[in-house]
Amino acid sequence: MLTKSRNENGSHNNEAGAVSGPAAGERAIAAALALDIAGNPGGFAIFTDFDGTLVDIVGRPEDVVVPRGLRSDIRQVRALLGGAFAIVTGRTLAEVGRFLGKELDASGLHGIEFTFATAAGQPPRAGDAPRELVEGIVKIVATDPGLRLENKGAIIAVHYRQAPAAHGRLKSGLLDLIATLRLDHQIKEGRAVIEVMPRGQSKGTALLEFMQRTPFSGRRPIMIGDDRADEDAFAVAREAGGYGLRVAGEHFNRGDEPFAHAREVRAWFATLAGRMS
Ligand SMILES: [Mg+2]
Repeated sequence: MLTKSRNENGSHNNEAGAVSGPAAGERAIAAALALDIAGNPGGFAIFTDFDGTLVDIVGRPEDVVVPRGLRSDIRQVRALLGGAFAIVTGRTLAEVGRFLGKELDASGLHGIEFTFATAAGQPPRAGDAPRELVEGIVKIVATDPGLRLENKGAIIAVHYRQAPAAHGRLKSGLLDLIATLRLDHQIKEGRAVIEVMPRGQSKGTALLEFMQRTPFSGRRPIMIGDDRADEDAFAVAREAGGYGLRVAGEHFNRGDEPFAHAREVRAWFATLAGRMS
């Protein structure tokens, strides 16, 4: 199992010091990387998802709780890395700001929105979803009281956690709508949510955007995430000689994830921040 996953991930047998031992399984990688980062903070950039990665998943996304210490720990880690730290999420930047504070580098809406705090240059900008698309999705959502629409601007999310049986019908309805309107949009599935978004952007393109800029460029990227949408960013990180660190949960559950729970990710950041060892 470990051998297989190491092959899939490709990049674990590199020169990143403590990580490269033959016994380094998936579960050992995060701890080994923390040592490598502490020894050479200028060599790494850290990107992290928010929901299910930094904070526990809850029934309603607005009810998420940011545990005590997390905000200061990620600021410590950001300082350690000379600013090469960014949040990469499907949420809006407004939500990231509300939960974690505004002065962090971040990409919201799966690579569509950006806040550049330390990243050099002007961030790319995106427009709102076309009106006819929003209207069509409103009609689909109205067919089931358990569906909930969330308009994020450029992305429209439909949550079906309260109506799991509606998933198939919802997905085909959204795909039909996009085809009927001849839009260059796609759907992206997450934890009990389907999001409709313009094609071309992803958490992977978000990483690329940061990695072109100071202070991120030239460093070994580490992406941490718990969901399907994070896989694009894992691939980009590994391609650049870095790491994609999976957090177990509803999507990843092979039992050999580097992090078994968001709690372990928080402990990892606390260790890096020097609060725990
Ligand atoms: Mg997540």
